[in-house]
Amino acid sequence: MEYFEIMMGEALEETAYRDILVVAWLEKGEPVPATLEALGKARELADSLGAYVKAVTFAAGEEEARKLTGYGADYVYILQGPALSQYDLEIYAKALGEFIQEHKPEIVLFPAIAPARELAPYLAQKLGAGLIANCTEISLDEATRTVIGAHPMYGGEYFRLLANPGLKPQIVTLLPGYFRPAYYDAYRTGEVQTISVEPVPSRVKTKGPVDFTVPKGLDKAKVVVSVGRGVKGQEEMELVKKLAQALNAELAGSRGAVDEGLIGPDRQVGMSGHQIEPKLYVACGISGAIQHYYGIRNARCIVAINPDPTAPIFKVADLGLVGEVKDIIPAVLKELGTR
Ligand SMILES: Cc1cc2nc3c(=O)[nH]c(=O)nc-3n(C[C@H](O)[C@H](O)[C@H](O)COP(=O)(O)OP(=O)(O)OC[C@H]3O[C@@H](n4cnc5c(N)ncnc54)[C@H](O)[C@@H]3O)c2cc1C
Repeated sequence: MEYFEIMMGEALEETAYRDILVVAWLEKGEPVPATLEALGKARELADSLGAYVKAVTFAAGEEEARKLTGYGADYVYILQGPALSQYDLEIYAKALGEFIQEHKPEIVLFPAIAPARELAPYLAQKLGAGLIANCTEISLDEATRTVIGAHPMYGGEYFRLLANPGLKPQIVTLLPGYFRPAYYDAYRTGEVQTISVEPVPSRVKTKGPVDFTVPKGLDKAKVVVSVGRGVKGQEEMELVKKLAQALNAELAGSRGAVDEGLIGPDRQVGMSGHQIEPKLYVACGISGAIQHYYGIRNARCIVAINPDPTAPIFKVADLGLVGEVKDIIPAVLKELGTR
């Protein structure tokens, strides 16, 4: 009889969900730091609930995976098979989904790192499970055994508390850097088991990683001229480019400009783009949404060109030029003597 069952004084039904599962990521034979944070949190939850910590990992060697027991896992499962040697959403989701359906963990913790960020919601949808994504803190309502997750909004200005009472398993992804990592205890032991996964064909062809580094020049630029949806067509875009040239500036843009095809996604600034710190940032036709401002919050001086005096960009601008791009930029170029 398992510890939890003894604590409850009765055997749980075979169908009951129990235990905390960590989907563990290893790199070069070591658990990545975000995995250690998830294991640390899992141990805390397991001790509160009287449950076990289980860790599941993909295509790892047994000795590497065994390290997870030293970090607090009571059971470690290695999903093994030729198809798992490289990450593939459908194949990983199928293997992990079947594992979860068989082992029925009550709570599943994912480190919110690149593959897990798409795997967790995909799996939650397939399993009809609850999902709380990108948590910076989690707590437990012990009476109902419900996880409550704090999820940051508006670049961390606000938090939403989310829970999925009644849904099993409760899947939670943890943002790296917010949780105390599990410590290593060489004397801790646990069971390690390898599970063979049948090969399945994938419909997805992986073309390789996308380079998301800040384009050379933009990351260190002292002056950035940025284009938004308010810039209409190529003629006005040429004006923005002329301004950038006159100021010896790098070009960037808002999500709106990327959507309009005015600038490439590699130059998007903001919460889901790049965060830059120029001395001068000139926003042309940008409304100043919070997600955009997040990427320029460390700019020394913000100049905004916009005909709408109520646009949020003017709340953060050091200098506001109320007017249209087609009128303001030629006037500025004239002042600069470059028209
Ligand atoms: C999770 C999430 C992440 C996001 N991440 C980002 C991000 O990283 N970066 C980002 O930019 N956005 C991001 N967004 C989108 C963001 O909320 C805004 O929708 C976006 O920034 C709007 O872009 P914009 O200012 O170019 O367009 P709009 O909001 O449409 O603003 C256009 C502006 O142009 C002005 N205008 C109109 N005509 C003219 C003219 N002739 N001359 C000058 N100005 C004119 C208008 O008055 C208006 O203020 C994100 C949103 C979400 C939900």
